[in-house]
Amino acid sequence: MLPCWDEPSRKAVFALSVVVPAELMAVSNMPAASETTLERGKRRITFLDTPRMSSYLLALAVGRFDTIQAQTVNGTLIRVLTMPGQAAQGTFALSVAARALSYYEEYFGVPFPLPKLDMLAAPDFAAGAMENWGLVIYREVDLLCNETTVGVARKVRIATVVTHELSHMWFGNLVTMEWWDQLWLNEGFANWMQTQAVDVLFPEWHIWEQYVVEEQSRALQLDALRSSHPVEVPIRRAKEVDEVFDAISYCKGGSVVRMVNGVLGKELFRKGLGLYMRRFAYRNTDSTDLWSCWEEVSGMPLMAMMSSWTKQQGFPVLMVNETKTSRTGGSSRLLLSQRWFLADGSEEPEEGNHKKLWQIPLLPGPGGTDDHLIMESPEMRWEKKDGFLKFNFGQVAPYRVLYDSSLYGSLSQAVRNGQVNALDRIGLLLDALAFAKQGKLPMAQLLGLVSAYKGEKSTHVWQALSEVLSTLHRMASFAESSFSALTDAVGNGMLRDALQEVGIAASAKETDLTRHKRALILRLMAMYLPKDKALAEEAKLRFERWLNAQDLQDTLPDDLKTSIFKIVLTNAETDAPYNALRRYARRTDIPQAVRLSIYTALGSAKRKDLRMKTLDMATGGRSGVRLQDIMYPVQGVSQADPDGAQLAWRWFIQRRRSIMARLKGANVRLLGVVIQLAAGAVPDKAHANAVEAFFQQHPVPGLERSIAQVVENVRTDAKFMMRFEDEMQGEEMKELLKGFEL
Ligand SMILES: [Zn+2]
Repeated sequence: MLPCWDEPSRKAVFALSVVVPAELMAVSNMPAASETTLERGKRRITFLDTPRMSSYLLALAVGRFDTIQAQTVNGTLIRVLTMPGQAAQGTFALSVAARALSYYEEYFGVPFPLPKLDMLAAPDFAAGAMENWGLVIYREVDLLCNETTVGVARKVRIATVVTHELSHMWFGNLVTMEWWDQLWLNEGFANWMQTQAVDVLFPEWHIWEQYVVEEQSRALQLDALRSSHPVEVPIRRAKEVDEVFDAISYCKGGSVVRMVNGVLGKELFRKGLGLYMRRFAYRNTDSTDLWSCWEEVSGMPLMAMMSSWTKQQGFPVLMVNETKTSRTGGSSRLLLSQRWFLADGSEEPEEGNHKKLWQIPLLPGPGGTDDHLIMESPEMRWEKKDGFLKFNFGQVAPYRVLYDSSLYGSLSQAVRNGQVNALDRIGLLLDALAFAKQGKLPMAQLLGLVSAYKGEKSTHVWQALSEVLSTLHRMASFAESSFSALTDAVGNGMLRDALQEVGIAASAKETDLTRHKRALILRLMAMYLPKDKALAEEAKLRFERWLNAQDLQDTLPDDLKTSIFKIVLTNAETDAPYNALRRYARRTDIPQAVRLSIYTALGSAKRKDLRMKTLDMATGGRSGVRLQDIMYPVQGVSQADPDGAQLAWRWFIQRRRSIMARLKGANVRLLGVVIQLAAGAVPDKAHANAVEAFFQQHPVPGLERSIAQVVENVRTDAKFMMRFEDEMQGEEMKELLKGFEL
């Protein structure tokens, strides 16, 4: 559109004027200053000058849009712009935006710097959203919804995407990173702020628990690979920029910000941010500018501590071992030591460079002696008082804690006794899963811990359980030998119980979190017991009632759709349900979210030819998916079962040319996701080698690191798979699995 220095620190004032067909609407960062009617049905729109800003924030949208609007308490105009006929679906996002903008003005102590805010839903958009100053552009599914049928997870997602983008209006747009190696300053901060804002606007969602299960856990998973990268990562050329929009910049960045908040406390944290906004408004910064603002207001040295988290790749595992127990029981002496945590359980080489060392906030929680103690050395001693002890209380910092088996025993007992809060119950589970994958925690101990969660009530702890149970199911389905023992114990024990308690039908006065829990448990049931007779009948009934409903106020909530569709397709004796779903997805009057749940479910069709047809929807054509949705059919097939995982990879090899042709010119991360899904689902060493060799032969510029991560992940899964097969056999394990039953 225009030649410019497209670098974040080359800020400029943009004066924009466009000539468009008179019947179309044109919007940009700023409101129009004037309009002139021209000849031949054209008009010229001249916008007010933008403030001084980076070129990547410049935006112009021209089209036929429907709009709805609201005003903040301070009088800022906010609009949602959609394709014709969809504006009513923007009411939820609009109300979130109006409240969030006011909240941020108060939180940062700096008014929203522009006269208006537009939020536009684009029908095909590579990212979730883009924070152009004053004209934020979203994927439809991340902005629009039908408020009466929308699933809870989707509603939370819309709220967090909106609060994420609006936080950028200050953090990113007003104060901008100096260069892309500081991208995390933008994205990590927004990742934290989105959660903080949603927690204030919707306290009933307990979103920090969800943050630990989803965002922090994605950070720890990716950052446990040797092919990860430091939060502050050198960027030498433009091609390398796209690849750092990853879970390290967003989720590890956000987790590091959350840790600072935990260490400084809410008030000093916010004071430092206010100082940062005022001091650097309309300018560029790097991480040290932010640290020094926090140091200035708190008098605490942060620089060295934060560098150990942002300049160093990876994160530590804190190992806790009991060295001496007092004779009266209770108190004991512990040895704490830290080490680089690697997903496959391998160790840092002994010789060579200096060992990695982090400054770890120990956060020993209630009963701890010093809440602000930072561990700076490789080892230290600790006196444990009476009762159970858990470090990283509240999962405030992005690291894992491995206890010796006697301490694990007392923690499991504390879970059973209901003494451990939800955040820490989540942390214990996710850490234990990671240690089991590494081979550092026997499967028997992992299962022992899981059985302590029988009767669990919290939705987000169920979300963490779901992570563990999905992983176990996936491993067991590839291992075959232990499959029926596990599915029977978990499915017929823990899950059936939980589903009974929450019920399959919603009640009018239940909370969002209860509805969300139902969706999580049904998803696990669809995975563990899809052929269960009663469940299959129930699903068929609901499916048919939904399919035959004439209007869209249907009887099947959005967040149950994928699971119900999957159960129906698994049990189908004809192609009719598959074809009906494909037809339904082509309707133009349905929300995009419904289409996505259909794409994901189609992979569960049993026959190979139907699965191939599903995969081919990704390559486009008349019955294909939108470019932005290319990953959904691939995900549906590759994650359905072991056959699907194999098929998705074969499909990728066969169709490589048409997949590449479709993605030509699109953001390279879309291809990255397709590769991850198609190549990453078979936990087998030979498969890892095949994938590696394939991409050596067909390299993808700009995705080198992502592909190395896929290969490393598959190798790690393959090692876990071998141990899993070994450990899940034997009588002891059968006994343990009984613990899941009533
Ligand atoms: Zn962002």
